[in-house]
Amino acid sequence: LTLPREATLVVENVNFTYPNSTEQIIADLNLSFGPGTKTAIIGRSGTGKSTLLQLLQGALEPTSGLVSYGDTAVSQWGVNIAEVMGVLNQKAYLFDTTLANNLRMGNQQATDAELTAVVQQVGLTSLVERLPAGFKTQMREAGERFSGGERQRIALARILLQKTPVVVLDEPTVGLDPITEQQLLATMFETLQDKTVIWVTHHLIGVEQMDKVLFLEKGKVEMSGTHVEL
Ligand code: ATP
Ligand code: MG
Repeated sequence: LTLPREATLVVENVNFTYPNSTEQIIADLNLSFGPGTKTAIIGRSGTGKSTLLQLLQGALEPTSGLVSYGDTAVSQWGVNIAEVMGVLNQKAYLFDTTLANNLRMGNQQATDAELTAVVQQVGLTSLVERLPAGFKTQMREAGERFSGGERQRIALARILLQKTPVVVLDEPTVGLDPITEQQLLATMFETLQDKTVIWVTHHLIGVEQMDKVLFLEKGKVEMSGTHVEL
């Protein structure tokens, strides 16, 4: 079985309750994300957005129902799902190696020029220039000097370098001021133009660029449509 590059990610009658809990987080959810579509998911804190993203990447198994990609359950694809799906989780994980290695995780072939370009895209050029050894700086040495928003953007740059057709982003612009956020969203969507994008955000900035906006409330989609319709 080979993972298709172009396929629809489908959520069918999905229910989810954490094993150690009685609270139903996702309730009878039905969604589909076709190739190249851009979807924003909005909802209050604790409403299940990050849980849904975990289900989409097969990191969590639905209590009932099915999440599939190319007609196969995402859990069946196992770790191979990473070949087609790049994921930026809410707590971006940086590895204890150089900045360059962190950026190349998932795309060892990325050239120095590509690294420079992507760092520019996420607005971290001046930060990299200030680092003692630039791209060769060890994250451990640099770790303390990065803010939450900077760490998130390093992780976002890593995702942008991967050539996956599906990209899942959990609040990639959190902690940024509105102007930096607008700039980042503009370059981000340019880079992700041809990809299937599923983007969790806590507010409406940038959603006008999406095909569809889903409002999640108590594990159900309360409203959906383009931002004009809503
Ligand atoms: P935020 O906007 O704050 O990131 P969210 O919509 O992403 O919130 P989730 O992280 O999906 O919300 O959490 C949904 C609910 O599930 C919350 O009530 C949370 O406390 C609960 N929850 C999250 N992880 C676990 C877990 N591992 N075990 C039990 N409950 C959990
Ligand atoms: Mg969350």
